[in-house]
Amino acid sequence: MNEALHPAMQPHFDTVVARNPGESEFHQAVYEVMLSLGPIAGQRPQYAQWSILKRICEPERQIIFRVPWVTDKGEVEINRGFRVEFNSALGPYKGGLRFHPSVNLSIIKFLGFEQVFKNSLTGMPIGGGKGGSDFDPKGRSDAEIMRFCQSFMTELYRHIGQYTDVPAGDIGVGGRELGYLFGQYKRITNRYESGVLTGKGTSWGGSRVRKEATGYGTVFFAQEMLKRQGESFDGKRVVVSGSGNVALYAIEKVHQLGGTVIACSDSNGYLVDQNGLDLEQLKDLKEVRRERLSAYRADTAHHVTEGSIWDVECDVALPCATQNELNETHAKTLVSNGVRLVAEGANMPCTPDAIKVFQAGDVLFGPGKASNAGGVATSALEMQQNASRDSWSFDVTEERLQQIMRDIHTRCVTTAEEFGDPGNYVAGANLAGYMKVADAMVALGVI
Ligand code: GLU
Repeated sequence: MNEALHPAMQPHFDTVVARNPGESEFHQAVYEVMLSLGPIAGQRPQYAQWSILKRICEPERQIIFRVPWVTDKGEVEINRGFRVEFNSALGPYKGGLRFHPSVNLSIIKFLGFEQVFKNSLTGMPIGGGKGGSDFDPKGRSDAEIMRFCQSFMTELYRHIGQYTDVPAGDIGVGGRELGYLFGQYKRITNRYESGVLTGKGTSWGGSRVRKEATGYGTVFFAQEMLKRQGESFDGKRVVVSGSGNVALYAIEKVHQLGGTVIACSDSNGYLVDQNGLDLEQLKDLKEVRRERLSAYRADTAHHVTEGSIWDVECDVALPCATQNELNETHAKTLVSNGVRLVAEGANMPCTPDAIKVFQAGDVLFGPGKASNAGGVATSALEMQQNASRDSWSFDVTEERLQQIMRDIHTRCVTTAEEFGDPGNYVAGANLAGYMKVADAMVALGVI
């Protein structure tokens, strides 16, 4: 975080840091937004007032709870559960649940804060929130996952509802976990309230394309960025970090659009195949067998456990793993290897210093708030289908997603131009997302 904030913003940022000690990820997310708000302080000072900013930086409600559960061996385990209901000016709190050992209040607050602006940018009527637990699903049996989810929901159910707060998945929370969570919610409340969770299975109220939406949306957004330069994915060599839900479906869409994904990764290393990764094998490995990437087999592929996936030469890089996975050094390597475009599929995967390197190197850069908003936007489409007791076809839903990503792209481009910084997608996304939330908050009064 080397770049100085606008002098009007610095004292506000210092106050946020002092009020939230030790929460480095949350500080970083606030810093990134405040960095973009510099031009607003000069051109539309009413938006830069501390009276608005300080409300936006303070979650409306933060819930922390104990999650007790019993392992297959009969041992009692305790995890910590979180739900941060950040902002409901535009609609019910909306955002995923993350189950990962690294989860703490700082991480949930950074994710919730970003979600507020991301959701605003989608143009859909959804506020922002996030939750999760430091539970580690790795190596746990199905029965253990179920007991954990049931215990987690036994506390969470009282805080959520289709008009209140609508969780979904994130890292470590997919269709299986959402099934157990929804089942327990239904049992406790005695209500088949489909709209209380999104990312559900398609046989029990879920939307088609929701599983694919974050990855597909990231690639649709990158496609718009390329189109604006008169380019396309055709023939591009693409590196996608991660191998979870976002990564797998980003790979699928890149291949459909004529690009070749030559590398992906997990926490043990990365896999390179210059002929293009075999997606069917990857899906079987990750979605069915729940194995590591080292189990992937192909004559032309090799698995690397040293260095970084960002050492692999490519035209397009899509970081789809986790926060701060791509730092300044990685960014410099990518730039010197000739990368043309970087779009974030994960939340905050690039550090502020890495983003600076891309911008200085004339690399097209799509920030997650814009480029990965397809997941939550399709969640909002799921809420629409649930509210009308309807179920749309794959093609209709995918078309809606693609249109939403086009609209977000246009919103970023026109807002960046309006504030005299054409081509700066970070500024466009933050400013457009922020102004809409700020307008609604002012309209609703001091609440
Ligand atoms: N966890 C996803 C995100 O980061 C999706 C949230 C949702 O669908 O509510 O945007």
